[in-house]
Amino acid sequence: MRQKAGPIQRRPRIGGHHSQSERNSWEVKDRYKTALGCALLFAAYFVTARLGLLLGAEAGFATLVWPPTGIALSALFLFGARLWPGVFAGALLVNLAAGAPVAVALGIACGNTLEAVGGAWLLKRLGFQGRLDRIDGALALVFAAAIGSTALSACIGVGSLWLGGIVSGDGAGRALRAWWIGDMLGDLVVAPLLFVWWQRPPFRPRPLMALEALLLASALVGFSVLVFGNLYGGGMGILRQSYMLFPLLVWAALRFGQYGAATSVFVVSGLAIAGTAMGFGPFAGKALADSLFGLQTFMGVAAATVLLLGAAIAERNRAVDARDEFLSIASHELRTPLTALSLHLQALFRRLQGTGKGPSREEMQQAVESANRLLSRLAKLISELLEVSRVAAGRLQLTREQVDLLALVRESLLRLERPLADADCRVELQADGTLTGHWDPDRLDQVVDNLISNAAKYGAGKPVVVRLRDLGERVVLEVADRGIGIDRADQARVFERFERAVSRRRFGGFGLGLWIARRVVEAHGGTLTLESELGHGSTFTVNLPR
Ligand code: ADP
Repeated sequence: MRQKAGPIQRRPRIGGHHSQSERNSWEVKDRYKTALGCALLFAAYFVTARLGLLLGAEAGFATLVWPPTGIALSALFLFGARLWPGVFAGALLVNLAAGAPVAVALGIACGNTLEAVGGAWLLKRLGFQGRLDRIDGALALVFAAAIGSTALSACIGVGSLWLGGIVSGDGAGRALRAWWIGDMLGDLVVAPLLFVWWQRPPFRPRPLMALEALLLASALVGFSVLVFGNLYGGGMGILRQSYMLFPLLVWAALRFGQYGAATSVFVVSGLAIAGTAMGFGPFAGKALADSLFGLQTFMGVAAATVLLLGAAIAERNRAVDARDEFLSIASHELRTPLTALSLHLQALFRRLQGTGKGPSREEMQQAVESANRLLSRLAKLISELLEVSRVAAGRLQLTREQVDLLALVRESLLRLERPLADADCRVELQADGTLTGHWDPDRLDQVVDNLISNAAKYGAGKPVVVRLRDLGERVVLEVADRGIGIDRADQARVFERFERAVSRRRFGGFGLGLWIARRVVEAHGGTLTLESELGHGSTFTVNLPR
């Protein structure tokens, strides 16, 4: 933990003592927070598990929906795996209360804990952000968490029941199915709701949105009651089909993105479960296991479909917003150097035309130099823009030849001498070993120029270290600055097209450089990674196979 800088630190003896106790108090607070989190998670787990069990369960333990799975997944994902004791204690107690022998309950609790820890870990690994605003994120939730991690708990749970003699070999198959899908629904119905409403991803309001939401909510509730309830004594047969709800779910996702998707799935599922449990609706009336299975399938399919649709819509909305913002940035970015250039030339022209002594040779040289700088800025922006469509269209065409990376970096430093000097950045170049490889020099120029000019732009006034290393089969280039750094939450994003992590007023730029750089490096079979701490600088690492 970093210490706070304060006046006391100037007196080492007292300062050291003070910061130690300060650190201790933070640690205590941290532990207290973790304990509180575990307790809350335990309570939520226990209560919702009891509710799940109320609805009737296969072999007494494998329930129709197991909301705790979704709660545990989102809690561990959002607040860290350290909350696992809450899951373990909740699962243990709820199963003991339901009459499981201690050994069986312990087995089940291990399975449930592993499910939550594994699911949250997998989601993190797959780059899921919890906002459900991207299709790949929604797919990760459906496949890795809902289908993958829950299989673990189902196998361990039913295995424990079987070893404990609570289910027979015949019943184990049915229990496994019910358990697995029950947990899956927890991840598909409950987790998205918690993720979305906890994270609150941005959503652009529209006129009359509240009215539309109200209308949609009434329609959803009305139709759910019609389909799954007992209105008109179960008459209106033609309407008692679960797929009647799909148009409304689609409406929710289309107009309200991931918010609409997660919320509508939750509402419909709740009403569907309630109706079916009371013996109404299209899934009721058959043998318990079959009616539950029918309902589970409906809910699972509806949830996965609508979540994906909601994510796709959110993705589209973000793209539209990005385009609008880009157009306004682009016109501003291009116009600024253009206006400056034109003013500059006009002034020079006036002085050349005017009577009296014209500008001296030195003044001329200066004027031309700064005009040239503005022109290169314009050229760089335009070439970045032209690159976008070319790079996005497909794989980059590389023209490989034998390249000396050290020479290439030296040239780039020469090219960027002026901006580096303007930014007051001293560059330290470190190199060792053989630094040649079979690469596309023009493309690598782009990468190196981009990384170094970013270091000057975002690390002005501080030294920049450029390091080249020979790793045998690979060559590594590091560009490290001690500038503004990049927040952890933005570190993945800045490599995407048009994505920026700085205010437009403070720093110009399109947010394309890193995106293009990563594409180029990946086309060479290499990687471009970033390590950074906000306020302390960034290190970009290019790892290139020769
Ligand atoms: P641009 O600089 O035109 O915005 P880039 O794609 O080069 O586009 O960079 C994307 C974003 O990444 C920048 O807007 C900035 O927020 C961040 N960034 C890039 N390099 C650095 C750096 N060296 N230090 C801090 N932030 C950086």
